[in-house]
Amino acid sequence: MTGKVITIDGPAGSGKSTVSKALAAKLQYLYLDTGALYRALAYKALKTNMDMNHPGELAEFCATTEVTLKNVSGKMTVWVDGEDVGEKIRTEEVGLAASAISAFAVVREKLLTLQREAGAGGGIVAEGRDMGSVVFPRADFKFYLDADLEERIRRRHDELASKSGAAERSAVSRDMKTRDAQDTNRKIAPLAAAPDAVIIDSTSLTVSEVIRKILEHLQGSFEEDKK
Ligand code: C5P
Repeated sequence: MTGKVITIDGPAGSGKSTVSKALAAKLQYLYLDTGALYRALAYKALKTNMDMNHPGELAEFCATTEVTLKNVSGKMTVWVDGEDVGEKIRTEEVGLAASAISAFAVVREKLLTLQREAGAGGGIVAEGRDMGSVVFPRADFKFYLDADLEERIRRRHDELASKSGAAERSAVSRDMKTRDAQDTNRKIAPLAAAPDAVIIDSTSLTVSEVIRKILEHLQGSFEEDKK
């Protein structure tokens, strides 16, 4: 299967990053983590104490910040003003700030072209909140991963505990609920399944089981095409 655009949307903790990465590797596709773009802007906003509630300041910030995607040995990396932001954007603080900053039109518009350019040649698994609904409305395959809130909190808690050794479950729960509310209720490009997306509830599925479901779907459509 060559050159297709596959989108995977869903809330935090739905398993979409792990699944998207593994799927891209299996298909030898590029993996585009669009959350990393919002996180990269949020990282700089926090570092520079930018006031995102001040429209003039936010517009100036967007106009003067350079976000680029570089393909480093098949892996897309995000750079801000010439700095590879790497793992520095993987904190809960940056995640929450990314969720806040991503509600602004000026921010979403800034990142739209970059995302579309990355997917222009196809052969990509694009992961985010609005991949199937806004960024790639004509994607070849659209998936929406979901899971129960408690299960998503458990996954995020385990992930943070394994990375940094300690994580308060109550804090993880609070942050997850804040992010869900911000991402779902914002006016522009809210988190939602595109009407033509295949919805997969991963609550009681392993990563391999989710990938198997996606591959079965891709295979099914591929065989339909050949008829
Ligand atoms: O997926 P990740 O947790 O890295 O995303 C961080 C935040 O970036 C999300 O909570 C969401 O607010 C925002 N985001 C977005 N649209 C995307 C990807 C991420 O608004 N396509």
